[in-house]
Amino acid sequence: MSVRLVFAVLTLALLGACSSPPPRLAAPPPILDPDSACLKDLRDRRMAFEPQAALGNSGTCAIANPVKVTADSQTSWNRPGVMSCSMARTVERFETQVVQAAAQRIFGQKVAKLHHMGTYNCRTRRTETTVASADMGSRGGRLSEHGKGQAIDVGGFELADGTMISVKTDWKGAGKKSEFLQAVARASCEHFNVVLTPNHNKLHADHLHLDIGPHKLCSM
Ligand SMILES: [Zn+2]
Repeated sequence: MSVRLVFAVLTLALLGACSSPPPRLAAPPPILDPDSACLKDLRDRRMAFEPQAALGNSGTCAIANPVKVTADSQTSWNRPGVMSCSMARTVERFETQVVQAAAQRIFGQKVAKLHHMGTYNCRTRRTETTVASADMGSRGGRLSEHGKGQAIDVGGFELADGTMISVKTDWKGAGKKSEFLQAVARASCEHFNVVLTPNHNKLHADHLHLDIGPHKLCSM
């Protein structure tokens, strides 16, 4: 190509660039309030849930942005669970990054169903003494994170082939089910602020308590 031809092509290209309209700035995305941003996030993650009217009032057992979850993107749930939107988001991450990862590694298959024993529940924290008296809450006890929609009690997991892994029967032992539950509990501490296992006390003999409350405790 001659120098003159190259010059001509460049000139034409520049003229073309100059004659095209200036690029328009893309309209900024609408700013969502934190609540709707969280709900949008759950939809984007393909969780099955229904937004609920705000629960509780004046700080007691209040959830500002509650949702009723029936399934996350990975597993169906044995029953719906009501919790804050941010808790639902955390459970979803836990399912994807902890539960499914451990199931694939240890069993070579997916967990199909999450078995939980409770989510939102307006009560104070249980203690050993209240169990002895068959009481649901300790008198004057602090409000449980369940009362704020920030907690879930996980009783077990059901694999795709129908195998049931139960915290109550499989936590202890040397088998793969125990290995799975221990791995899940250990990794849960990276996602939740409080993780209580059967090692914590006999109140937790049959479930993992996971919450995103203000305290930090990884009881392995
Ligand atoms: Zn609990």
